[in-house]
Amino acid sequence: MKRFLDPKLADLVRYAPGEQPHGGPVVKLNTNENPFPPSPSVLRALSGGESEKLHLYPDPEAAGLTRAIAERFGVSERQVVTGNGSDELLAFCFHGLCPEGAVFADVTYGFYPVFCRMFGVPFREVPLRGDFSLNVDDYRNHRETVFIANPNAPTGIALTLSEVRALLEQDRDRLTVVDEAYVDFGADSATALLDDYDNLLVVQTFSKSRQLAGIRLAFALGSEPLARDLATLKFAFNPYSVNRLALAAGEAALRDEAYFERTRREIVKNREALQEGLRALGAKTLPSEANFVFMRPPMDAAALYRALRNRGILVRHFPGGRTGDWLRVSVGTDEQIVALIGAVRDILRETADAAG
Ligand code: PMP
Repeated sequence: MKRFLDPKLADLVRYAPGEQPHGGPVVKLNTNENPFPPSPSVLRALSGGESEKLHLYPDPEAAGLTRAIAERFGVSERQVVTGNGSDELLAFCFHGLCPEGAVFADVTYGFYPVFCRMFGVPFREVPLRGDFSLNVDDYRNHRETVFIANPNAPTGIALTLSEVRALLEQDRDRLTVVDEAYVDFGADSATALLDDYDNLLVVQTFSKSRQLAGIRLAFALGSEPLARDLATLKFAFNPYSVNRLALAAGEAALRDEAYFERTRREIVKNREALQEGLRALGAKTLPSEANFVFMRPPMDAAALYRALRNRGILVRHFPGGRTGDWLRVSVGTDEQIVALIGAVRDILRETADAAG
């Protein structure tokens, strides 16, 4: 019996994050983390004076980081809101920026429907096409706030900038939130449209292309009035959600453009190798602009997931529905990709032998 839980939340479900292993060496390709460590300048910033100031609250305005973000993206500081990972900023969007409800794809980031249930926001899921691509025309008659992960997760497929523009044009009084967690690995960022559209909010994170998943840091960019509303939602909840170490690390990461570029290129190169290796084994892969590949193996996906796990290789399986025959594999280092491809080859051979 849920003795103390508000009955309104009786149907609440948890977002199920990918497994974080507690012991033993594993090849971890299940949560789209960056396989490279943070930039050396981030490590220097973290070992500097900030930790001695942890008895003091962080700057709720995040002034230094906000300035760095505004400079990097060519926007005013009043257009920037920082948060404790994009999950936090997205939570504020679902909570406070969906007066008509929310609409998003049937196959997309699994947290969106969880947020809707948490905040009592009615939502509709619009089916992607058979090939998992998104048809922006399907959103034309929806008045709800639109959430687009671009590139999409878990597919890796991206919309072009003109498709995002078309979405924004459909109804200039309807807000579209573009969740760009993976944008730096290949897609065009909707930040290029911020000057033209005040019905656009772009959310980006430091978790993927800037190697800081463990520090929890993200930011949103929108028109000044929209950013002000989002900041109000944040300050009504927790003005200190971005801690001192995150502020210092984020600023250092943003200013080390060379490391960002080098690691980004490496991941794009490795993605091609991963796709080729999987296809050579008979898997189908979707075109990915992200740091992961969605693939349909030539055997039962759940069985392959389990067999890989038994060998210490973690990938992600989303059982049921349209995704149950597929696995999502994060792009790792060269060595991780070699280990994964070798293991898939062995498992396919063993499965064929057992069947024959
Ligand atoms: N959006 C998408 C599409 C994601 O896949 C993720 C990562 N799980 C997030 C947002 C959240 O990322 P974070 O909270 O680490 O910024």
